[in-house]
Amino acid sequence: MSSEYSENDSQNQMNRGMLIVVSSPSGGGKGTLIDRVLKTVPNLSYSVSFTTRAPRPAEEDGREYFFIDRATFEQMIERGEFLEWADVYGHLYGTNCKQVERERAAGHDIILEIDVQGAESIREKIPDAVSIFILPPSFELLRGRLLARGTDSAEALEKRMRGAPSEVEQFRHFQYVILNDDINRASHQLAAVIYAERARRERQEVNLRGALEDFGVFRDAVADPLDQ
Ligand code: 5GP
Repeated sequence: MSSEYSENDSQNQMNRGMLIVVSSPSGGGKGTLIDRVLKTVPNLSYSVSFTTRAPRPAEEDGREYFFIDRATFEQMIERGEFLEWADVYGHLYGTNCKQVERERAAGHDIILEIDVQGAESIREKIPDAVSIFILPPSFELLRGRLLARGTDSAEALEKRMRGAPSEVEQFRHFQYVILNDDINRASHQLAAVIYAERARRERQEVNLRGALEDFGVFRDAVADPLDQ
């Protein structure tokens, strides 16, 4: 089927923002990477998750997470307010549907920094989500990072280290893998993936409209040229 752009199409319509899932084993350094990319890549936002874990000393409610108690979290599950949620090392973490929808509807790409279970739920629910796995360069380096953070009890640290191999094993289900051996290189690579995904033909219907119209080319050529 093909149809020309109609007069009724809103000229102000925007491409819907894409959803970008970034996962790594806990302590994999993805926070620093994502902070860099949020500062350098325009039109990119960050999904602030809800969690039942207690805030760490430098964390602020509403910035790293919304810190809530378990009863409130469970009510939110019942009300269907999470796009996905998971139990990660004994605490609950969840992505708020509304925030993600608001950003995407406004044409902003949004990063979800979530664990591998959450990434799996998103892959099932949102097939066009972009998924990126951040791989720490070694097991010992991961331990070093967790120790340096100094926020976990010895028991919590051991739990996270024991869980790391099965989290890393999940890398094969992601579209992109970035080795986090050098923060500059890795953050450039993360930005490059986002820019490349933005340039995909099927994501650019609105951006390409003017040029295509100018050539007398039909709208459906953007979405799926094989359907013509
Ligand atoms: P941390 O307690 O170190 O901040 O996070 C522990 C793990 O929970 C990390 O792997 C982090 O990516 C993950 N996480 C944070 N927010 C969410 C969320 O909303 N959903 C899921 N599934 N995992 C999350």
